[in-house]
Amino acid sequence: MKSKYGKITSQTIKELTAIVGKSGIITDKDAMVGYSHDESPITKPHAPQVVVKPGDSQTVAKLLVLANKKRIPVTPRGGGTGLSGGCLPLYGGIVLSLERINRILEIDKENFVAVVEPGVTLSQLYNETEQYGLYYPVYPAEMNATIGGNIATNAGGMNAVKYGVTRYNVMGLEAVLPNGEIIQTGGKFAKCSSGYDLTQLIIGSEGTLAVVTKVILKLTTKPAKRQLLFAPFTELQKAIDAVPDILKLEMTPTGIEFMDKSVIDIVEKYIDREVPYHQYAAFLMVIMDGESDDEIHEYFSKVEDICKQHGAIEAMVPNSERAKRRLLEARERIYPSIKKCAPMEALDVVVPRSEIAKFVRKVKEISQRHEVPVVICGHAGDGNVHLNPIGVDMDEKEWEKRLPKLMKDIYRVGTSLGGAVSGEHGIGLHKKAYFRQETDEALLKTMREIKKAFDPNNILNPGKIFDF
Ligand SMILES: Cc1cc2nc3c(=O)[nH]c(=O)nc-3n(C[C@H](O)[C@H](O)[C@H](O)COP(=O)(O)OP(=O)(O)OC[C@H]3O[C@@H](n4cnc5c(N)ncnc54)[C@H](O)[C@@H]3O)c2cc1C
Repeated sequence: MKSKYGKITSQTIKELTAIVGKSGIITDKDAMVGYSHDESPITKPHAPQVVVKPGDSQTVAKLLVLANKKRIPVTPRGGGTGLSGGCLPLYGGIVLSLERINRILEIDKENFVAVVEPGVTLSQLYNETEQYGLYYPVYPAEMNATIGGNIATNAGGMNAVKYGVTRYNVMGLEAVLPNGEIIQTGGKFAKCSSGYDLTQLIIGSEGTLAVVTKVILKLTTKPAKRQLLFAPFTELQKAIDAVPDILKLEMTPTGIEFMDKSVIDIVEKYIDREVPYHQYAAFLMVIMDGESDDEIHEYFSKVEDICKQHGAIEAMVPNSERAKRRLLEARERIYPSIKKCAPMEALDVVVPRSEIAKFVRKVKEISQRHEVPVVICGHAGDGNVHLNPIGVDMDEKEWEKRLPKLMKDIYRVGTSLGGAVSGEHGIGLHKKAYFRQETDEALLKTMREIKKAFDPNNILNPGKIFDF
């Protein structure tokens, strides 16, 4: 596989430098270390031969023309915060960092639209839109992630019940194809029945079809108030059973999160304080946006009734901003807490909402069988279950032996319950084998045909999602 790609010679470096300029290229090995990994806990570094940092889409186009001519692999990279090895240059070659294409081009108050470049980070976008009383509602927790990376992975996060994942909030794109052609898809309009929807095809394609160089995002008004309700239960099943009834209420919550006690125990150590009701087995966190405290209060009184009907011990609404912040922080710190405590992997299986409790029960059986603890939380409102196997009480060799077997069984159970391998992080490199295992051959073949139509020489992020 490796040998089919062209070598990067000193002549190639000269040509790349002529395109991006001296300040837009890195060839020093030490300076490239930061571009050889992402935030996945199991990523082993893959070094590029060169990093290029173009400043605009025309330069991206010229780079791709050159790479295509010389058959050099090109791996797009945003903030490098991905959790599936998606931005790793598996076959070396060029890492194409979008970090310098990072301007917010327009906040259109009439159409509730932001036009941004792909290297814009989530924190940049939130800060800018806030000044206009507007809001980009997708919240995948990691503020250093870029909009380009969010689009490529179809990122989700905690607000998805009300606002949907990234793909529901993108109206159009500019993208550079592997042959250097630049396409514009969609626009600042809400409806479109004009040909194939390439916006949606490129979203979630993990940098394998095109390089996104401009994005038209849907904005909404910033909600006046946000509050949460935190409910401990004696069993996860009871907590999950409450979710459909909560969703039947006339108002839609922003998000509904669940946490297993195993997660709370680890987070408490990391944040060095107790989470309320930490002795119980499972927790629901219902997050609600609204126009007034009264509106949210009325909604939460109904949610409280539902939770208690399903056996909640309590339904607590924090009585201060600080208490609310501390609870949200406990939820948001789950990933770094687990990462600090032991070797781990982060799975993001999605199942139908109604199957969450059954899925978690089966995962616990699998965890016991393989003798690998799995700590569990997730987005109860959309069926996205975050499973974190941890390698406690075993050496590295044993961990590396047991993990793939455990993952294979978990993915099998997830799909047998009507689910899918990844709900929001993407397949990238690390889930490729499991995606193949769980995907129908005809579907994989169709995906390969699509890849071939966009990228016949397989130069764009090769070795990701599936082998070609
Ligand atoms: C602590 C933590 C919490 C997280 N929580 C969540 C969460 O709740 N929900 C969630 O969905 N994710 C979450 N993530 C994962 C991560 O933030 C997302 O996957 C994010 O979308 C990656 O963005 P990035 O800019 O870092 O992309 P990168 O990691 O740089 O790249 C990711 C993929 O996008 C491709 N890519 C990047 N830019 C472009 C472009 N312009 N054109 C084409 N392809 C491109 C890359 O090739 C790669 O395949 C979390 C990560 C961390 C570290």
